Amino acid sequence: MGKSVIPLADLRYAAAVPRIPTNAPAPSGLLSDRLGRSLHDLRISVTDRCNFRCSYCMPKEVFDKDYKFLPQTSLLSFEEITRSAKLFAQHGVKKLRLTGGEPLLRKHIEVLIAQLAALRTNDGTPEGAPLDITLTTNGTLLARKAVALREAGLQRVTVSLDALDDRIFRRMNDVDFPVADVLAGIDAALAAGLSPIKINMVVKRGTNEHEVVPLARHVREHYGPRVVLRFIEYMDVGATNGWCMDEVLPSADVRARLNAVFALHKLPATQPGETAERWAYADGGGEVGFISSVTQAFCGDCNRARLSTEGKLFLCLFASRGHDLRALLRGGYDDAQIAAAIGLIWGEREDRYSELRSQGAAGAGSGERRIEMHYIGG
Ligand code: SAM
Ligand code: SF4
Ligand code: SF4
Repeated sequence: MGKSVIPLADLRYAAAVPRIPTNAPAPSGLLSDRLGRSLHDLRISVTDRCNFRCSYCMPKEVFDKDYKFLPQTSLLSFEEITRSAKLFAQHGVKKLRLTGGEPLLRKHIEVLIAQLAALRTNDGTPEGAPLDITLTTNGTLLARKAVALREAGLQRVTVSLDALDDRIFRRMNDVDFPVADVLAGIDAALAAGLSPIKINMVVKRGTNEHEVVPLARHVREHYGPRVVLRFIEYMDVGATNGWCMDEVLPSADVRARLNAVFALHKLPATQPGETAERWAYADGGGEVGFISSVTQAFCGDCNRARLSTEGKLFLCLFASRGHDLRALLRGGYDDAQIAAAIGLIWGEREDRYSELRSQGAAGAGSGERRIEMHYIGG
């Protein structure tokens, strides 16, 4: 991990209660922010707890036995999450991603998935289409839960896996969890029909960079095109991971290492706002993705909103402040009022942290501590 661990400033409560506009138009599904970006994805953090202590996300030194996670009463209930998701769908959201913390630690998560699977998009047709529902998990509970998740209506899943080498994997999760159990979770997800499966690997220079080729080889040989491996640049999210640029291995370098062994060619994006640049193996062995938010900012078409575990709406992964939707959900406001408030918030959005960082205008210079990833959701 990084050389210094910065003490955590508790920003969980920094959120303003949203204003309810009068005479707001009913949601049309066509919201646009100040930079002309639509709203397409909603990422929902269902718990701030996790059974791993990845140093880039929840370093053990900060998230120790004395750390105070949110009390149960602070969490949005399944009904509150579903009501929020419905309002976001009215505004144009088509995809929901459940995250955390570790989302599979939230009790009865499959009940929530079943509720979300019953929602419909606002796509101009009388009934709308089902939302695209997915989940990001560290995979530790997947072997046990894959069938129940699929039966509840989950369509696909993203599993985080930073190394194939058991020793490196155990060191990175920092709780000595064996890689074999995560691989068994991926097998179970495939067997249950969750598809496509994506694997996210955060690449840290000096920690797991030598795992890039072995993991790619493993995915090609064991799963083929059914599983897409994506390499994520180590990001400066939160305020506790002691991030420094020296530990970032740029996607271009990762790709060069891979290309030296398996020839790659670039694929076109399938939809605007896609986080990963897609590349295919020239021999037809499937595709890989590169998520380069440090070296190649993609704020220009960022269409993602994030709902924290306790119902704060964040407009950017690097935001310092949220909007307290829970205050409205629990404050007796009706759906039309809350939808109008959401519309107003998105309409005023102008966040583009990564772009500003790459121009040397953000980061430490902003003077504001950022919210933690396990709380806001990855
Ligand atoms: N616990 C689940 C997991 O690990 O998949 C879901 C939450 S986790 C915060 C979501 C994603 O964020 C994971 O793929 C994780 O690797 C990624 N992540 C966390 N901290 C990161 C960082 N500093 N830089 C890049 N990716 C990070
Ligand atoms: Fe937990 Fe996911 Fe963060 Fe690792 S990245 S500590 S698994 S929330
Ligand atoms: Fe979106 Fe913020 Fe990431 Fe830019 S930095 S892509 S606005 S989440």
